[in-house]
Amino acid sequence: MSHTLTKPGSTEVDRKPSAAALEFGQAWEYAPAPESPDHVRIDPKYGLFVGGRWVTPRSGKFFPTVSPSTEQTLAEVAEANAQDVDDAVKAAREAYDKYWSKLRGADRAKYIFRIARAIQEKARELAIVESMDGGKPIKESRDVDVPLAAAHFFYHAGWADKLDYAFQGRRVRPLGVAGQIIPWNFPLLMAAWKIAPAIACGNTVVLKPAETTPLTALLLAKIIEEAELPPGVVNIVTGAGETGAALANHPDVNKVAFTGSTDVGKRIQRAIAGSTKRLTLELGGKAANVVFADAPLDQAVEGIVNGIYFNQGHVCCAGSRLLVEESVHDIVVKKLRDRMHTLRLGDPLDKNTDVGAINSKAQLQRIRELVDAGEKEGAERFSAPCRIPDKGFWFAPTFFTGASMSSRIAREEIFGPVLTIMTFRTPDEAIEKANNTMYGLSAGIWTDKGAKIFYMATKLKAGVIWGNTYNKFDPSSPFGGYKESGFGREGGRQGLSAYVEVE
Ligand code: NAP
Ligand code: MG
Repeated sequence: MSHTLTKPGSTEVDRKPSAAALEFGQAWEYAPAPESPDHVRIDPKYGLFVGGRWVTPRSGKFFPTVSPSTEQTLAEVAEANAQDVDDAVKAAREAYDKYWSKLRGADRAKYIFRIARAIQEKARELAIVESMDGGKPIKESRDVDVPLAAAHFFYHAGWADKLDYAFQGRRVRPLGVAGQIIPWNFPLLMAAWKIAPAIACGNTVVLKPAETTPLTALLLAKIIEEAELPPGVVNIVTGAGETGAALANHPDVNKVAFTGSTDVGKRIQRAIAGSTKRLTLELGGKAANVVFADAPLDQAVEGIVNGIYFNQGHVCCAGSRLLVEESVHDIVVKKLRDRMHTLRLGDPLDKNTDVGAINSKAQLQRIRELVDAGEKEGAERFSAPCRIPDKGFWFAPTFFTGASMSSRIAREEIFGPVLTIMTFRTPDEAIEKANNTMYGLSAGIWTDKGAKIFYMATKLKAGVIWGNTYNKFDPSSPFGGYKESGFGREGGRQGLSAYVEVE
């Protein structure tokens, strides 16, 4: 049996969807259903949130944040320089020494519960702004990002007065000031992942959101202001890479928490080596989704689509490699291709949209470069026949068949809606291929046999392993990587240990 979908030169016929898929696509032609942004207020200009106040950056500089789906400027945002970062760290230190480290856990919890409830109250606004600023579909920001952000604050509020019980009778104390740097793919959720455990454990925070998606972190700063947190407990400084570097390198920061690319993570690790700073790194991934012949294939196809195409593949734990048992390769590829004909790409604010905009022009360039490399290396490409809007940054959901394990598309993180499909014959071959990567963040296993899931899960070198599902998150479940996907865990009891000294 052929492993590839089509032979070179005969791609025309096979690129067509089956009659059933066409019929399905037509039956489900949706009218536009956009979420209205009318009631959402985005200020024309945002300062820095330092010491409980909104301040003008000392640099005097502002930069625009644009909507990747319309290319319109949404707001001007302050660019913090090293002095601004220093002000923020000083404010965090003062808040730590004066109030936060002295407050009882039960009192810290009250503030954190307040933040969680305010996120729920403003859920609609936060979801709309997240989709406008970052390009992700509203159904993702509304149903995943925002509820999970609230859940992280609720969960950690619950721990704030129980920390002495979290480590089996040992007493814990906070670390001090945490410098936190986050990426653009889950802007509000990553801010919640970082801030909630830090302040629950009694630390204070300076957080830098990504340059392309600062708005929901700034809305969160407003929520924190309204929750009347003591000034300086949480400070938000916007800016680019240099702002992040100034924060990580600041001598009065006790703990650095970074989520982003492996390259920048390593740079931070080098920069703070020899200091007493604590560090956690959540970096890239190249997860394998392993589909066995005995799996419920339709369910698996839905999981594959969820794992790589929803949220445009802008997920560090995206199932970007599909390892499928050879005997079902052709049927899985056919089902996947049919499903891709029904994916709706377009306006992130439309409630029916499955695939939104690519976060930035630079990211789109990177995806294109890797996809071109895949074609040059001889793999066969299929892209869903989506209509690409005239404005904005878009990439149609794509997969490659017939790629070799050594090709760039099989090894490098693409961080876009691009799947590389490969085959295996035995569970051990699947394990070897899945582990044959410098990363180790996540993996998926699809099979009818529970025993096979357990066997695979003990052998796969990945921090998170899903069985017959994909991309499921919960604040009580620790998340983090092996190898070059970083170290340290976020969420759960394990995540607390990144923010305390155990005595
Ligand atoms: P990135 O370039 O590493 O940026 C991440 C953050 O670091 C941004 O806020 C960035 O600012 C800042 N930064 C850039 N250079 C810096 C420096 N020298 N020192 C300190 N901070 C610096 O990553 P990205 O392109 O935004 O995000 C995509 C990557 O994040 C992917 O590799 C993905 O796998 C990874 N990711 C991992 C996880 C996880 O949990 N493991 C979660 C989400 C994303 P600017 O925005 O201004 O560049
Ligand atoms: Mg933006």
